[in-house]
Amino acid sequence: MPAHQWKREFTQCQHCFKSKGPGVTLSLCAGCKIDTYCVRGRVPPLLHTTPTLTHPQSKECQRAAWPTHKARCRAAQATRASIGDASAATLDALRAFTAKHRPVIAECGVRALADGGAADDGFLQIDVRRRPGEARAERAWAVEDVRVAPYASVPDAHAAQMRAVLAQRVPGTAGAFFAVVRDVESGLANSAPIGYTAASLGGEKMPWKQVLVRSLNAGLVV
Ligand SMILES: [Zn+2]
Ligand SMILES: [Zn+2]
Repeated sequence: MPAHQWKREFTQCQHCFKSKGPGVTLSLCAGCKIDTYCVRGRVPPLLHTTPTLTHPQSKECQRAAWPTHKARCRAAQATRASIGDASAATLDALRAFTAKHRPVIAECGVRALADGGAADDGFLQIDVRRRPGEARAERAWAVEDVRVAPYASVPDAHAAQMRAVLAQRVPGTAGAFFAVVRDVESGLANSAPIGYTAASLGGEKMPWKQVLVRSLNAGLVV
C-alpha cells in the first residue's frame, strides 16, 4: 500500500476503525482527550461523493465504545489528575509523536504482528527518549528500541483494558493491535489501538524494525 494510502487508512475512529475522509470527521473523547471517534455530518459532502455512506450517526461510535472505553478513559483521567504538569506535557508529546507517525507505525505493526498471526499475543512497543530542544512533534523523540512485547509485560488491569478494546471486532476490519510508545526516562507511555483491513495484510516482506526505527528517527511524516 503506498504511503499516502496508509495515512488515509490509519487516521481512524477508535471504535469502528473507519478512516477519516469525506463525510467522516474524528472527534476526541471529551473525557480522556485521547481516543478519537467518528462524527458524521460535520463537513459538507464533497462533490461526486455519495451522501449515502453507510456510517453511524453522530457520536454513535463513541456511545457504542463506551462500555469498553470506560475503564481506559477513567484510568487515563486518573493518571492525568495524579501526575504533575511536566508529566502531563510528556504524555501530550508522546501522543503527538504517535499521531504524526501513525501510518508508519500501522504499516510496520501489521508486518510485525498481524501478518505473523501474533496480534492476539502481544503489542508493538516503541521505546523512545526525549530529544532536547526539539520543537517539532514528529522529531521530539529518538527511538531506542522497537519490539513485539507480550501482554504479560504490563500490569494485568492494563492488559485487560487493551484486550477489551481489541475484542470489539468490527465488520470491515480484519483485526487490531496496540502500539505503545514509552518514554524510557519517565516510564510514561501512550497506547493507541490500530485497526487494519484485509487489504493491509500480506504485503511485501520488509524489515519492519529497521523501517520503523529509521522512519521515526528521521521524523519523516507522509
Ligand atoms: Zn466510528
Ligand atoms: Zn475517553
